[in-house]
Amino acid sequence: MKETLDSTPLVVLDDVNKHFGSLHVLRDINLTISRGEVLVVIGPSGGGKSTLCRAINRLETIDSGTITFDGQPLPKEGRALAQLRSEVGMVFQSFNLFAHKTILENVTLGPIKVRGTGKAQADRRGMELLERVGIGAQAAKYPAQLSGGQQQRVAIARALAMDPKMILFDEPTSALDPEMVQEVLDVMIGLARDGMTMMVVTHEMGFARRAANRVVFMADGQIVEENTPDQFFTNARTDRAKDFLSKIL
Ligand code: ADP
Ligand code: MG
Repeated sequence: MKETLDSTPLVVLDDVNKHFGSLHVLRDINLTISRGEVLVVIGPSGGGKSTLCRAINRLETIDSGTITFDGQPLPKEGRALAQLRSEVGMVFQSFNLFAHKTILENVTLGPIKVRGTGKAQADRRGMELLERVGIGAQAAKYPAQLSGGQQQRVAIARALAMDPKMILFDEPTSALDPEMVQEVLDVMIGLARDGMTMMVVTHEMGFARRAANRVVFMADGQIVEENTPDQFFTNARTDRAKDFLSKIL
C-alpha cells in the first residue's frame, strides 16, 4: 500500500444518482479518488459497481449530481469525450480483444487511430508494454491462441498504451480459470506500485490487502462502508458488509 498520495483528487463524484427506469442504481454517491490511489470496490452482484465504473468514463450518463475528472466536469460529447475515454483506461471481465488482429495490433490500434502515433513508434511502445505484462513472446499471435490470463494481460497492456491517467478494472479476474488469476493480479500489483491510479472492482482479498489504499463496499446502489483493507476484511463496521464477507470468504 502506498502511504503518501498526491492531495489533489483525480476523480470526484458528488451526489451522483442514476436510474435504469424505476431501478435506482446509484444513490447519492459521494466518492473521491486521489492521484496514485488504488481503490477497491466490493459488493454483491447488482449493487451498481459496473455502473459506477461506466459512469466515470461516461459509458453511462448520470441523472443528477456531478462527476469531475482531473478538475473538469466530464465532457458530454465530441473530442473532449474521446480524450476522456483515452485518459481513463478500462479493463473488463471479458477481455474484448479484436479476434482478427494480432496481440501487438490489439495494443497499437488505439495509439495509432486515436492518438495519431506513427506505426513504428506504436510498435516499439507496444512491445515494451507486452514485455512489461510478460507477453512479449506472443506478440504475433492472435487472441484465441492465448490463455485467458494472457489475454487479460494484453487487455491491460492495451489500456496502458494510451498512457491513461487512471485505469478502471471491472472484475478483471472473474472470468479466469483459478490458476490464471494470480498472474493478472501480479501485473495489477505492479501497476499499483508504479503509482497508477486504479479503481478495481474485485473480490480478491489478497489483492486488496496488498495493493489497495481503501476499500469501498457498495450494495443496492449505495456506498455502505469505506474502510482500509485490513479493517474491512477483519473488522467490517456494517452488518451488511459482514454478511457479504461471510458469504465470499
Ligand atoms: P454490479 O456491477 O454491482 O453487479 P451493475 O452496475 O451491473 O451492478 O447493475 C446494477 C443494477 O442495474 C442491476 O440491477 C442491473 O440489472 C441494472 N442494470 C445495469 N445495466 C443496466 C441497463 N443497461 N439497463 C437496465 N438495467 C441495468
Ligand atoms: Mg458488475
